[in-house]
Amino acid sequence: MEYDRIYNFSAGPSMLPVPVLESIRDNMLNYEGSGMSVTEMSHRSKVYDGIIKGAEAAMRRVMNIPDNYKVLFLQGGASLQFAMIPMNLMTKNHKADYILTGNFSTKAYQEATKYGAARVAGSTKEENFSRIPRQEELDLDPEADYVHICFNNTIYGSKWDYIPDTGDVPLVADMSSCIMSEPVDVTRFGMIYAGAQKNVAPAGLTIVIIREDLLGEPMAFTPVMCNYATMAKNDSMYNTPPCFSIYVCKLVCEWLESLGGLTEMQKMNRKKAELLYGCLNNSKLFHATVQEGSRSMMNVTFRTGDDELDAKFVKESVAAGMTNLKGHRAVGGMRASIYNAVPYEAVEHLVAFMKRFEAENL
Ligand SMILES: *Cc1c(COP(=O)(O)O)cnc(C)c1O
Repeated sequence: MEYDRIYNFSAGPSMLPVPVLESIRDNMLNYEGSGMSVTEMSHRSKVYDGIIKGAEAAMRRVMNIPDNYKVLFLQGGASLQFAMIPMNLMTKNHKADYILTGNFSTKAYQEATKYGAARVAGSTKEENFSRIPRQEELDLDPEADYVHICFNNTIYGSKWDYIPDTGDVPLVADMSSCIMSEPVDVTRFGMIYAGAQKNVAPAGLTIVIIREDLLGEPMAFTPVMCNYATMAKNDSMYNTPPCFSIYVCKLVCEWLESLGGLTEMQKMNRKKAELLYGCLNNSKLFHATVQEGSRSMMNVTFRTGDDELDAKFVKESVAAGMTNLKGHRAVGGMRASIYNAVPYEAVEHLVAFMKRFEAENL
């Protein structure tokens, strides 16, 4: 790979597109004639105003976000949203439905129980989260203030292959590990949120896309920093925003546009995922851990069935020029995260290595 970069399958923070890194490098000491780096400029300056507005505009174009949705640039990671969502949205009937499909949806649910009547409205825990529940398996309360799902399960490697119908109840989705990987119909969601460090930018930025009518009165004790309405009213500038990550987010959105937008990105992501799942489907040694129909295009989880052999695979993959293929500590096995910025070539390299390893170890 260019610049002697390694094949990096990190789940997050993860690869950024090379043209984006090059643009950052070229502007590092003097951003477009401003005489300073983006890391050094006031967030209230004219130059930075162009950056943050440009980031929002580019994201709106790329994701086709309608005007009645606010785009917020926040901090605290997706994990802070687990608390902010109930504080801001569990305020009418004081109850919400959570669908459990893995680690993060469970954490979101546990956090929400502190603020009101969070209820499990569906779960595939009994099946080790190896699939997404079907619509008819969901037990939704029409009085819930919202329904929460995790759209792509980073650790287990599953992804919703449909958008659940929640009637008039707003659907809230954690899209940390799949945002901007393919087109999504934003209008089907009341709110979409994502930690940026998987597919969009360096760590430190959390993106919230929220329908305006949901910006109401949060719970009385809500910290001002956790109030969506305050952040919206101040254009994400109530305090200093994560300036540098927002800048990179702008560059990443512009890079996506230069490729042809999310329809093209989806094609490329499909091609990578098909190569890897095809290898797993034909393998006598490896198997995918998620059932067909629920498999993520971004995080591909697999194992041999033998923990020692899995460990050997991970160890040898490092010697073969790859990194971060070890599964999350909560589930073991292997995981290849193949986000937008991971090139097809990296997946080819991985598949060739898997075939070699299979021939040597079967
Ligand atoms: C990584 C991740 C999180 C946690 O994000 P932080 O920004 O570290 O809080 C939550 N949900 C999903 C789906 C993730 O992939």
